[in-house]
Amino acid sequence: MAGDGRRVVVFPFPFHGHATPLLRLASVLHTRGFAVTIFHTELRAPMSEYSEAPFKERLTAALAEEGAGVRCVIADVAWYKALSVSSALGVPAMGVMTASAANYRVYMAYPMLIEKGYLPVQEARREDLVQELPPYRVKDLLRLEASSLQGFADLLRNTIEAPRQSAGLIFNTLRAIEADDLDTIRQEESLPVFALAPLHKLAPPGNTSSSLYGETQADRECLDWLDTQEPGSVVYVSFGSLAAMDPHEFVELAWGLAASKRPFLWVVRPTLIRGYESGQLPDGLDEQIRDHGRLVSWAPQVEVLAHPAVGAFITHSGWNSTVEAVSEGVPMICLPLHGDQFSNARYVCDVWKVGMEIEASSAAGQNLERGKIKAAIDKIVHDKGIRERMDAFKLAADEAVNSQTEVKALVDLINSF
Ligand code: UDP
Repeated sequence: MAGDGRRVVVFPFPFHGHATPLLRLASVLHTRGFAVTIFHTELRAPMSEYSEAPFKERLTAALAEEGAGVRCVIADVAWYKALSVSSALGVPAMGVMTASAANYRVYMAYPMLIEKGYLPVQEARREDLVQELPPYRVKDLLRLEASSLQGFADLLRNTIEAPRQSAGLIFNTLRAIEADDLDTIRQEESLPVFALAPLHKLAPPGNTSSSLYGETQADRECLDWLDTQEPGSVVYVSFGSLAAMDPHEFVELAWGLAASKRPFLWVVRPTLIRGYESGQLPDGLDEQIRDHGRLVSWAPQVEVLAHPAVGAFITHSGWNSTVEAVSEGVPMICLPLHGDQFSNARYVCDVWKVGMEIEASSAAGQNLERGKIKAAIDKIVHDKGIRERMDAFKLAADEAVNSQTEVKALVDLINSF
């Protein structure tokens, strides 16, 4: 049978940014000779607690299947109940963190952050360094209102406790960018850790043409358009699968792009602009966009970032986008909007120094204005230091693909179960 009696059950969390790396990982394991069974929820039902009974039922059935040979369960750490159920049923389980290793450390540190008064974030302390967790400043932390903080802290505690009973943790990251954080997690959690990026290059080329939880097909013609542009000239703009912005932010960004006089490719999902109706663009903007840019509803992002015409990436700093850009060597202008995007941007700009941030998320996005966009584009395309550091990361990512060191170590561990 396929997989030689070596089967892995993979359980992705049903959001695009979570599911994409898990499916790529499943694909990597399949090329390594494993049979793979994907468990999935019928709907977006992202409550780990509710998944417990159906997951247990399905896994028990899979174990009873003759010759199925389930070696292990690989589940998003957000499915912490599934990790516990697997371990309880005697099946080795491994958690996958689809955000950064640095963010996993924020999860680990969350009780301390509350105890020391960093959280909930107080306006007066926003710029303070978190002494126990550099390089974070208070404003970079996963922010929540005081009223919802305790519930969130409980969720994070569950998210890190289940992997403690598991066989290992898999990260969608590169050692070249997060070696220290990975080492700290390995030591403090006493777990094997694997850094499996760039998954989009480790997995065989697959279908990147649609958004997983929408109807949107990627516009592949934009790749032909990129072929007609000068090397390094195009600014690619994308805010991932979920983020939304107000119409005035959209307009400022559009004018900033137009003022840069550079060609741009911009993903404008139907849900990107709150309350937007087509035809709402102010006078002249339509014309500017037509002259300089191209708008698409969904792009084949990893292919766009790998295209030689692309010289800079304006991003919301979602983790997948960040790792993809680092792996393709594309400098970033970070416009974080919520969640872990702030801390990702901190690493991009202040630790790896391969991008710059435009702080847009103050009250109602008032900070986002066209002059800042144009200035950031002008600066980043001429910054040799950023270019050189990005080139070095791209080499490291290529080396991870050529050597397959982390994949081999993971496969060896699974084979040892
Ligand atoms: N993506 C894509 N085409 C687009 C926009 C995004 O393929 O037009 C992909 C992108 O390559 C990445 C994912 O969607 O893999 C977005 O994940 P990320 O973690 O960056 O952001 P999220 O959507 O979770 O906010």
